[in-house]
Amino acid sequence: MLDFTLDKYIELCKTIIDSGYTSVSVRTYLEDRQNRCVVIRHDVDRKPEHAMKMAEIEKEFGINSTYYFRTTASVFKSDIIMAINNLGQEIGYHYEVLDKTKGDFEEAIKLFENELKEFRKMCDVKTICMHGNPLSKWVNKDLWNEYDFRDFGIIGEPYLSIDYEKVLYLTDTGRGWNNTRYSVKDTVDADSVYRVKYTDDVIDLLKNETLGQICISAHPERWSDNFGSWLWDMVWQNVKNVGKAGIVKYRKSFHD
Ligand SMILES: [Zn+2]
Repeated sequence: MLDFTLDKYIELCKTIIDSGYTSVSVRTYLEDRQNRCVVIRHDVDRKPEHAMKMAEIEKEFGINSTYYFRTTASVFKSDIIMAINNLGQEIGYHYEVLDKTKGDFEEAIKLFENELKEFRKMCDVKTICMHGNPLSKWVNKDLWNEYDFRDFGIIGEPYLSIDYEKVLYLTDTGRGWNNTRYSVKDTVDADSVYRVKYTDDVIDLLKNETLGQICISAHPERWSDNFGSWLWDMVWQNVKNVGKAGIVKYRKSFHD
């Protein structure tokens, strides 16, 4: 049985609704904390057309979520961004300005301001989320050690504004859920007690647990609607994972 297909995503959406969870965007969560909810976040790292498909599926179920777009040429597609916004979903800025400026904080904050302006020509942006490039030595959210995103009309950043001691964090990083071996940067500090690997595990968890708040991070490019693309994605993912495992090992030995 294939996992990480749009059919499986449909099943996940149906489970969220059937289990009585309220689905919320990051913005709604931060503005109006719900008791029992699933915060859904999509980092659009590549293949924005997959984000479009996911947003259409969510629309069918009445599910709310946030799509964080990078500003790279292949991702920053205004027609797709505006179409997803028109479906009622939140659009956020997936920033990587410390990577782009090679750690120059002054240049990075200027770039941040300019890129944010590009988004705001299309839609209201109230939340941002860092992109974690495993091959870069910078961590983009470190920008906020020097600056305050509230000065830019931003109300939150999922890595900084959500308390993962209270919210269970589930991410599809590395062809599996919460696969920390492969996710160098898409991790949060809290230790998840749940060992989930397949989307069916996430579905079981939603059906059987009475958890208050859950954050789901799903990368649209990892969810495919045909086998050819899925197979290609797996190959590509495996290639990248080999590289990432090497980096984790290197970092470990470096710090030990
Ligand atoms: Zn990303």
